[in-house]
Amino acid sequence: MSRYAMCPDCGHRMRRVLDLWGNWDGESYECDYCPSEYDDEEEDDESLDVYDAALIWASNGKDEDYSFGYSEDELEDAL
Ligand SMILES: [Zn+2]
Repeated sequence: MSRYAMCPDCGHRMRRVLDLWGNWDGESYECDYCPSEYDDEEEDDESLDVYDAALIWASNGKDEDYSFGYSEDELEDAL
């Protein structure tokens, strides 16, 4: 058994999750580099898929302020 757990998603070493008393249960790790599943759910409304983004972008006169991080080509293709 290896001494450290590596994150399966990003490959960074994960840190041990300690309980309130500073004890480690021997198996719980947390990755500091990946958002937790709970964070993912909270951030859902920030991550717009390209099709939704394209509709909003188009309805705003294809203003680059509404590109949501997508390129103009990506948005055109999604329309
Ligand atoms: Zn990770």
